[in-house]
Amino acid sequence: MGCLAVLEGQGHVTNPGQYIAELAAYFVSEGGQFIQANVLDIQKINGVVSHIDTDLGRFDCRKAVITAGIWSKDLMKMIDLNVPMEAERGYHVIFENPSELPRNPMLMTEGKFGVNPMEMGLRCAGTVEFGDHRSGPSVDPIAYIRKHSQRAFPSLQYSGTQEWMGSRPSTPDSLPLIGELGQSGIFTGFGHQHVGLTAGPKTGRLIAQLISDNSPNIDMSPYSPGRYAVGTTKPGS
Ligand SMILES: Cc1cc2nc3c(=O)[nH]c(=O)nc-3n(C[C@H](O)[C@H](O)[C@H](O)COP(=O)(O)OP(=O)(O)OC[C@H]3O[C@@H](n4cnc5c(N)ncnc54)[C@H](O)[C@@H]3O)c2cc1C
Repeated sequence: MGCLAVLEGQGHVTNPGQYIAELAAYFVSEGGQFIQANVLDIQKINGVVSHIDTDLGRFDCRKAVITAGIWSKDLMKMIDLNVPMEAERGYHVIFENPSELPRNPMLMTEGKFGVNPMEMGLRCAGTVEFGDHRSGPSVDPIAYIRKHSQRAFPSLQYSGTQEWMGSRPSTPDSLPLIGELGQSGIFTGFGHQHVGLTAGPKTGRLIAQLISDNSPNIDMSPYSPGRYAVGTTKPGS
């Protein structure tokens, strides 16, 4: 017997890439400057950030915010953090020009995957695979999603498919690192595991408040990057 539970008041993004591009465009329209460069090193003078070295040259700064998802793992070595963060890799298959498209996102219990109506087609997504973020995708998770999508939509017709793998940046205590690392002027905003798209705006606001010396009205201590700082006393120790 089938069973359906409805969660009301949900929202979903039908084109995440465009969503982020439009946020960046808005930032620029408000006077911000967007520079796409590869960060090579983060330099400090007397323990305070002084400049960032990139493949486009050096950028002097008094504050820096690290929000590089799982790649923050690589940047951590430059900023005295030691988080055993791992990638929970997830996959999706998009069926282009599908003959059927649900009006709302659905979570399928059989196969445990999500079904989302997107601008680019029907997206079936899920799976959790611990793996190195620098390694290429595995074959089995995609085959798994395809198999269960076929079961859920046995008559589905489509013009083509797109496959994708992403890395959810996950910490041992499942909490992100949000805050200033000591008094270094370096702020962290990463480790949001399965909910980074949703939690990102709130994290952005919290970091903006911290940088502008407005205390957030929540207890920030559980998120402190200091709990993973190298060479300092960790909370509770
Ligand atoms: C299958 C799947 C489904 C998901 N579904 C959801 C969902 O429904 N809702 C939700 O909220 N979240 C979801 N997530 C999680 C979400 O995708 C992540 O939490 C989110 O992408 C993290 O955002 P971020 O900006 O911190 O990192 P990312 O999106 O990973 O961005 C990091 C950026 O840093 C850049 N970078 C890396 N190294 C450097 C460097 N040295 N110099 C400069 N730039 C660098 C990268 O190029 C990248 O652009 C899902 C993830 C997966 C895999």
